[in-house]
Amino acid sequence: MRVLIVEDEAPLAEGLRDGLEAEGFAVDIASDGLDGLWMAREHPYAAIVLDIMLPGLNGYRVCATLRQEGIWTPILMLTAKDGELDEAEALDTGADDYLTKPFSFVVLLARLRALMRRGVPERPSVLEAGDLRLDPATRTVQRGDVAVEMTSRETALLEFLLRRQGDVLSKQTILDNVWNDEFEGDPNIVEVYIRRLRNKLDRPFGRTAIETIRGAGYRLAADGG
Ligand code: CA
Repeated sequence: MRVLIVEDEAPLAEGLRDGLEAEGFAVDIASDGLDGLWMAREHPYAAIVLDIMLPGLNGYRVCATLRQEGIWTPILMLTAKDGELDEAEALDTGADDYLTKPFSFVVLLARLRALMRRGVPERPSVLEAGDLRLDPATRTVQRGDVAVEMTSRETALLEFLLRRQGDVLSKQTILDNVWNDEFEGDPNIVEVYIRRLRNKLDRPFGRTAIETIRGAGYRLAADGG
């Protein structure tokens, strides 16, 4: 799940990014309002963390513009404690929730997850392909009745495969959505993680849900293998 952080204070933005990445999210940062608006239009983010006081275009304007354009990505707005502009106004412009600075990362994470859960109403809260299940709220994975232990990155990869089940996904598409734009390591990391998922979710159960499509990428069978 990819999250956009629009925040001009670099240490705060980078701290949030590191924390969210550790939880398995892919994270982009925009350091001014115009960049943030552009990125929010271009990419289907799972959620946006949006500061109010920004160079270029303030957070209220970014939020209001997105909503006017029919972009309903869940937005968590960050308001300053000295609040010259208040929370009610954040919600008026179409933000879904707000947090007052300074905040704890744990609280931000909980709020973000809550927003993503209710963000797109038609999205099922539990993702399923046959008897393979992932609950995005609790980050738990099951094959049939068996709970499977997964790392946060493995869970993020499975979540992406489940959301795009039946589609052939190239390594690059997977990399872009599950890892970061800035990821400059070996793209074969995708293979490594695909193998881990198979070893946890398919092989022990005699299944073949995650298919290799030669020369094209991978596909999660919609029936769960
Ligand atoms: Ca700011």
